[in-house]
Amino acid sequence: MLRLIIFNLLFIYLGCQPKNEEQFKANDTIKPKYAIVIHGGAGTIEKRNMDEATEKAYHKTLNESLDAGESILKSGGKSMDAVIAAIQIMEDSPLFNAGKGAVFTNDGKNELDASIMTGDTQMAGAAGSVTNVKNPITLARAIMEKSEHVMMVGKGAEAFAAKCGLEIVEPSYFYTEKRWNSLQQILKEDAEKTALSEDEKGNKKNGTVGCVALDSYGNIVAGTSTGGMTNKRYNRLGDAPIIGAGTYADNASCGVSCTGHGEFFIRYTVARDIAALMEYKGVTLKEACDQIVYKKLVSKGGEGGLIAIDKHGNIEMPFNSKGMYRGWAKPGQRETKIYK
Ligand code: ASP
Repeated sequence: MLRLIIFNLLFIYLGCQPKNEEQFKANDTIKPKYAIVIHGGAGTIEKRNMDEATEKAYHKTLNESLDAGESILKSGGKSMDAVIAAIQIMEDSPLFNAGKGAVFTNDGKNELDASIMTGDTQMAGAAGSVTNVKNPITLARAIMEKSEHVMMVGKGAEAFAAKCGLEIVEPSYFYTEKRWNSLQQILKEDAEKTALSEDEKGNKKNGTVGCVALDSYGNIVAGTSTGGMTNKRYNRLGDAPIIGAGTYADNASCGVSCTGHGEFFIRYTVARDIAALMEYKGVTLKEACDQIVYKKLVSKGGEGGLIAIDKHGNIEMPFNSKGMYRGWAKPGQRETKIYK
């Protein structure tokens, strides 16, 4: 009997010990009050190509983005506001391929895409190929909340943004030297018809941003924002503004935001596929992510990754590329990462 009491006391004591950082996991058995996960794009991101100052800058901005979203969730705010706040920080940073710092099209312009979806009502909004809206994610939200449509593109979407009073900027606002040089490099390679190295291919498509959040009311919201792929033509749209491909949210299963080679994510409706596997087959979020990112996408040659949160607050951040800028937070827990 005494042995049993001592054993029980020891068990309770150990269970009450605060976790150290090593023990923190994105998945726990207890549903958290809130959860938030962000990505800043997947691609050929390797330590050998990154200087210390740049790496620090990425972690700093990822943390600022988490701060913005988490402070809203912590004080009982809604996941919709948290996702918008977190994504806006990354759109405003020249480090990521979204908003300021977006990649250039073949004819030297920046065309931005974004989408957002809420898991309670499954309302959604998406904008494609806009050139003067400072924060395209706010336009996606306005389309969802203030129109009867889901998707608007080009001049019409820009006119709607202006009508809604969103911040409009000169297209030159989105210029960064780094992205301009990437375009020049690719144009040169194309002209010389040299094959792109894996690194250069990867650099064509990293930096999209996204966020998924679960609030204390149990609502999951997912959002994604991007400049697309360097050297894109013909008003090409990727997966980011396509509901079901780059973004999806359903409170019955999960919320997802994707990044990677958009054409593959569109063909295999990646974000919706994760939710559908959970809904129809009853698999866990992790099982669904493993199936789609490491098996299906790999078998089809689709490079990239995604972030997801399920209704229990479990978080997954799978990617089959070399790296993915990413971070997550739950009450008292936080992590930002870049490489595998
Ligand atoms: N998925 C985006 C696109 O294809 C690019 C990316 O995530 O890096 O437009």
